[in-house]
Amino acid sequence: MIEAKLDIVENQNKKPKPEGDDLPFGQVFTDHMFTMEYTREKGWFQPQIVPYEPITLDPAAMIFHYGQSVFEGLKAYLNSEGDIQLFRPEENLKRMNRSNGRMSIPPISEELVINYLKQLLLLEKEWIPNEEGRSLYIRPFVIATEANLAVAPSQSYKFMIILSPVGSYYPEGIHPVSIQVEEHFTRAVRGGTGTAKTGGNYCGGYKAQEKAADRGHAQVMWLDGVHKKYIEEVGSMNVFFKINGQIITPELNDSILEGVTRKSIIELLKHWNIDVIERKISMEELLQAYEDGQLEEAFGAGTAAVVSPIGELSWQDETMIINGRQTGDLTKFLYNTITGIQTGKLPDTFNWTETVKEL
Ligand SMILES: *Cc1c(COP(=O)(O)O)cnc(C)c1O
Repeated sequence: MIEAKLDIVENQNKKPKPEGDDLPFGQVFTDHMFTMEYTREKGWFQPQIVPYEPITLDPAAMIFHYGQSVFEGLKAYLNSEGDIQLFRPEENLKRMNRSNGRMSIPPISEELVINYLKQLLLLEKEWIPNEEGRSLYIRPFVIATEANLAVAPSQSYKFMIILSPVGSYYPEGIHPVSIQVEEHFTRAVRGGTGTAKTGGNYCGGYKAQEKAADRGHAQVMWLDGVHKKYIEEVGSMNVFFKINGQIITPELNDSILEGVTRKSIIELLKHWNIDVIERKISMEELLQAYEDGQLEEAFGAGTAAVVSPIGELSWQDETMIINGRQTGDLTKFLYNTITGIQTGKLPDTFNWTETVKEL
């Protein structure tokens, strides 16, 4: 592999690593960060690793006004040999470039970014927790930096990677959550930006999330924006149902975000010869399956939780209790398999993990 050259400025004031059980998601950051700049004239340039610190932007920077940005989310783990492991990082970087394309942001070499990321991880290796369930969350992102109030793509950008040690998503063990189907607000529509990981898609969902929380639900289930009929996603996760032995997940439709976890689950199920199908599924069909006693399991899928079982689903006046509010066997098996591969406890028969040693 090419070794991408970059400047490293070491942090002389290293922070203490977090201790104890309390490690809230995304609030603790490591000692260093990666940054790189883009201008029309130079392309992407000045890759560097510098001490983690606030950045300065012009108040007219376009990110503040029109939200031109993309982000990614993946995790690094320590395996039992003490080496760093990444899970399908090339999938995240390919998706970042698809998001960039949608948001009129110039593409970034995936090969170079993987290399920069590895150098950053090697420098920050001590920050990767090795306790069960913990990991180092990796957040690459791009923001528009040109100082200009014109409504047009920025001429300059900043790409950064920051790292955050995170606790187990399930400190008390994997447990099902209660979900409210959102009837009014829409996350994304065909032709919109739902397939891109771009900032505005998420704050647009806060209102529905607040509504669901007020009614005692943990998350929102999103329906298609046009007919409010077909199921799309749950929170910021893809969604799967087990109905009468068959696994169904909504087909990609130009408004659903294509998750790496979703893709991995489909590949695992196919490998196990478990019947899995990507197709449209309506709330009416789901309710019918429930009433017929055929809705066996339901779960969300995404990097943060890996899988998140759904124990209760409220839609209009109906409340469905799924699998007696217990985590289903298949849900649990998928969770154990994927986390096992990610952390090196199970053999990586699909060649999904990448071990990061000295470059
Ligand atoms: C990130 C994300 C997912 C899950 O993707 P993973 O690659 O599995 O983490 C699903 N839906 C939305 C809206 C997302 O932003």
